[in-house]
Amino acid sequence: MRWHCVKRSLLNCSASLTTDLLKNNPLLIKNHSHSADLNEISVTKCLAEMKNKATITEKNPSTLFAEGIFQLNINYKSRMPPEQLVKRTLQNKKKSNHPIGPADLSQLNISDEWITTGEPNHERFLLHDNNNESNERIIIFATDERLRYLAEADEWENEFFSTFCRMLGGLAFLPINDVPRELIYLKTIIPQEANELMEYFDSTYIEGKIIKNNARSNVIRRTPAAFPPSVWNVHEVTLNDGQRTNNQTEGWNHRSSKLVNRSHPSIWLLIEKMRLELGVDEVKIGQRDIGQPLAKKKKCILVCKKN
Ligand SMILES: [Zn+2]
Repeated sequence: MRWHCVKRSLLNCSASLTTDLLKNNPLLIKNHSHSADLNEISVTKCLAEMKNKATITEKNPSTLFAEGIFQLNINYKSRMPPEQLVKRTLQNKKKSNHPIGPADLSQLNISDEWITTGEPNHERFLLHDNNNESNERIIIFATDERLRYLAEADEWENEFFSTFCRMLGGLAFLPINDVPRELIYLKTIIPQEANELMEYFDSTYIEGKIIKNNARSNVIRRTPAAFPPSVWNVHEVTLNDGQRTNNQTEGWNHRSSKLVNRSHPSIWLLIEKMRLELGVDEVKIGQRDIGQPLAKKKKCILVCKKN
């Protein structure tokens, strides 16, 4: 994700930085052209905190405003926008944004427009939700069109390709420090048809996307991966839980349920991200239609453990 200075047009400041999708690992791309206003930063942070709480708690705007103001240093209080204005913003946040919660997975109810791909087409997106029928919550999102592509894809019949995919998945169980070395090894045995998958995997889960500073330059750098190994590696968890479970995937389920139960990303944010991913695929499919090779389709399967 790329961030720009709020004073971009006002002060013509071209400062920017990148983070992963969880807003971690900030990487400064360009510095500000002006000095920082500490008062304003404190007030902005305070407002952001209130807005965030408005979307994830049931508290009303008055309470949120009072709590926020209470924590703010006395010197900054005068810089706060008028109470009525702030409260109206908080109210809108509640209305327009994600559903509240859930407090835990058993209370998660995906309904209305959240079972669709959202604006503008509202296609069917939620294919399966076992609700709370078993110990594990299984939620599957995919569009009918993409499933059709998946069914038509040759790779599913290629045994080495599927073995290779399992080896990629196996990285989650290695000691985290061994992941980069093992990835280098996998790149030496990669079947040709898995190149795009590897590129996607590497940029999303390991090293991040490669970007060139400009078209002429040979200097490359990487944006941080959206989900670096520290997020998905379950080596430790598996070892620690090893005595209690005979299911190796338990570690991953444990990790992903923690991820989803956190306010960032909430399940609603996750669904939004998957919808965005559809848009990215759209571009690739469009490219195939004008003669460029088709990129691999991704289906998203989320398995969460019930609390
Ligand atoms: Zn700036």
